[in-house]
Amino acid sequence: MSGRKLLSKNLAAALAVIILLLPCQQAQAQSKTQNNKAQNSSDSDSKKVLIAQVRKLCLQHDYDKALNLLEQAQTESRYRDDYDLLFLYAKLLSHQGRYQKAIDYLERCVQLRPKLAEPRGSMAYYYFCMGKFDQAEKEASVGLTLQGSARGFAYLRALIGKIELYKSQGPVNSPDYLFAEERELQHFDRKDFPIRIAILVDPAFKEYSLQFKKAVLNSFEQWRQASGGFLRYQLVSQKEARIVCKLLKYRRERGFGSILGETMRDDDEGLEDNLKFAKVEVFFSTDQDPREIEATTLHEVGHALGLNHSNNPRDIMFPTAREPFTALLTARDKNSIRKLYGIPPGAQFQ
Ligand SMILES: [Zn+2]
Repeated sequence: MSGRKLLSKNLAAALAVIILLLPCQQAQAQSKTQNNKAQNSSDSDSKKVLIAQVRKLCLQHDYDKALNLLEQAQTESRYRDDYDLLFLYAKLLSHQGRYQKAIDYLERCVQLRPKLAEPRGSMAYYYFCMGKFDQAEKEASVGLTLQGSARGFAYLRALIGKIELYKSQGPVNSPDYLFAEERELQHFDRKDFPIRIAILVDPAFKEYSLQFKKAVLNSFEQWRQASGGFLRYQLVSQKEARIVCKLLKYRRERGFGSILGETMRDDDEGLEDNLKFAKVEVFFSTDQDPREIEATTLHEVGHALGLNHSNNPRDIMFPTAREPFTALLTARDKNSIRKLYGIPPGAQFQ
């Protein structure tokens, strides 16, 4: 049959979150040359100590204390207009989902180093996370005309592409986000339910096994309830599973954040809108906030069931996660899964 795929792997785009803790090397190097060496060697040392302290607090997920430390530092004249510290402060704010305040601080970074692409790029990303696509696109475009790394530029170009896609998809307040043509949407067949699922945990994260299992079951339960009870599930061994969910020790940095999860979907050869198998991978490391597991899992299970990304930051299927990592479905998430499976409003199963 023509057009038939031997093996089709539809890599659903990943969920990313900001966890970057240190300003980039380039910015640090530049600040050193701009400073007066003789006077500032001790300042530079104390700045290093300060950044190390902030970093340690972040590893303990104590972002409030880390922010306090940086706020105190800003009251000292030697640190007041320090690009690195302002940039770091903005990063931490963004980690807490305080994007507008982070952008305000990045504006100051732009004033201090108008030629650098870095603060523009971060602003673009935070505007994107807020769903403010026009501002995001504007900052990213300006960033591309400034000084930066090849990797940074590649990311900005990818971000612009993504923004254009989301802008073209439709209004962020539409009842659902099934923007793709019907023939491009994938889902399991009705007879596949209860869907057989398996849960696996990297031995390195044994202590998180129970939490991950709860997160997976809670995720399927939320999607089941959203579907009026239609999307039932049952736990089986890996061999029998149609959806395998893994907690893995692996993380890949991408652009301004890290990939928290990834879902691979296999469709049925010949029946490409029918899903055959899905593999959910949730990435975790011990320096991460364990609450991220729940929100990431709920998002990735949404992909496994066939949903693509939403263009509204409130929805669980928006591509970036943020504090407080609320693992709950919005009305649009619920409407979208019902529409994907053709469940009429109000219909209840079982
Ligand atoms: Zn995603």
